[in-house]
Amino acid sequence: MIPILEQVEKEIAETGVLSFPSRRKLWEAMGSLEPRERDFGTFRSLTEPLKKRAELALACAQKVSRIWCAFDSEDKRPQRLVKRTRAYLDGKISAEALNTESGVIDDFVDIADNKGDDSGPAAALAAWGALVVALEDESLLEPWCADAVDSDLDPYDWDTAKNAAMAWRDADSEGNPGKRAVREIKFWAWYLKEAAKLLGAENYRFPPKYIRAFQEKQSPTRPVPEEVTLESFAEYMGGSYQFHTYTEPRKCYDKTPGTYKVHLWFGGDHGVCPVCHKAADEVTSVFADCCLWEVPLPGGRALEVNRVMPNFRCPDHPEVQFIFPPSTELVSNYNSALKHYWKAPGRKQAFLEQLESRLPRMLNIQAMSVEYIARHWEELHLTNAGWTDRELEQFSFDVDQILPNLFLHNCTLEQYFRYHPDQVRWLEDGSIEVEFSRIWIQIWMDESGQPKRIMLTTRFSIWVEGKPSKNPFLPGLLAKLRGITLEQAKESLQTVRTSSGEYEIEPLSGLTRPEAIRFQSTLEAGGVVCRILPPLMEQ
Ligand SMILES: [Zn+2]
Repeated sequence: MIPILEQVEKEIAETGVLSFPSRRKLWEAMGSLEPRERDFGTFRSLTEPLKKRAELALACAQKVSRIWCAFDSEDKRPQRLVKRTRAYLDGKISAEALNTESGVIDDFVDIADNKGDDSGPAAALAAWGALVVALEDESLLEPWCADAVDSDLDPYDWDTAKNAAMAWRDADSEGNPGKRAVREIKFWAWYLKEAAKLLGAENYRFPPKYIRAFQEKQSPTRPVPEEVTLESFAEYMGGSYQFHTYTEPRKCYDKTPGTYKVHLWFGGDHGVCPVCHKAADEVTSVFADCCLWEVPLPGGRALEVNRVMPNFRCPDHPEVQFIFPPSTELVSNYNSALKHYWKAPGRKQAFLEQLESRLPRMLNIQAMSVEYIARHWEELHLTNAGWTDRELEQFSFDVDQILPNLFLHNCTLEQYFRYHPDQVRWLEDGSIEVEFSRIWIQIWMDESGQPKRIMLTTRFSIWVEGKPSKNPFLPGLLAKLRGITLEQAKESLQTVRTSSGEYEIEPLSGLTRPEAIRFQSTLEAGGVVCRILPPLMEQ
């Protein structure tokens, strides 16, 4: 066997993946790259080595063409790219004629950016990539990419084979990590066979026993729960059902359809640091992201699914931004998992019925201002609501009508208290005070420990214009207002949060309304340009 094939076969058998350095070696084995100046986008001649690499890329694009059809059967542009590239390689059209087709890439990238979780767009990118290889050869074969490894490559730079492998891996994977890994190894086994053919090893086959051995090591597939409920759906996705809302359609410029937004909770007391593989249990925040969006539902509405989960920090690798609980990794592709959950007849409709009939009466205190709640309390189904103290922007209401669906920043109270202990204080009268970004929330409980009544108080900040450390008046004014020493005041200017030319300083945040008014007038009289946030309500 050709040594390169043997080497690559071993890599695929062991890892299930064909790394970029190995792909590059296979291309190299097909012959040298015609020299060209860097960043010089001229076409290369149809040399034998280029033709081989173009045939290989085109085979990849063809293999995943069906995946694009399943994604968008109307849009035939990727298929057209494949046909035209074929015609060029067969000498039927000129390089210039083929090049006129390449403009579709901006659209393809747009689709990939918006539907990144779906495997269809990667198939379209593979079709475009094959065209580029035919005209210019593999761009990653240039001498300056000689030392690159997979992590150096931006997804925008991926070669045709990589895009095709990603499309193949995720399509029909049911979102199951094990199934996905097996699909990927099968793709690379196929790729190696195709490459071997072009290298003159016509009879090469990737040994099936390696695929079987790899398959046995993967996590087993999980059965789809029989009953269609929001809970069983959440469980299948790896989380638990938290709540869902409905947002009316927006008819402004982007014409958003009416959207059901489902929030799933992924709890846990640790995550695994991707660098050192140790358990990380220090929570930085509860994080929410969107794992499915603009999914069409029967009847014209859309579905959006959000994940809510604690984000952990590894003390040894604080540069790693996101470490989520292992439950968030149970599904490797949410689009594929959803398709599988819905697959059997009637399930999609049954899911829609769940969304419609179980829309909860709820309150999710998030980025809302006290003013918003004061204006909309009736629509929000709050009872016994009214101003406690207008001067302090303090508004109270009962919450027993909306229980158990009371959420703080997408969390239940229990979750919030558990993951944000530093923001929660137990007050002497038995109530609980939560310090939120722009609100204080005071919660009174009934005898059984259930929340009964809530009072919101606006938490003001003063934003200073211009860099605080450069402001000659600030330290003195801060020392006077806050009763701290000049050194402490100067020190506090190191902890600024900035927002487009304005700065928030710790001693000037978390203020009551009267404090904010008094502080602002003192600062302004002292020559500091500043404003109060949120803006004061008219009294
Ligand atoms: Zn670590």
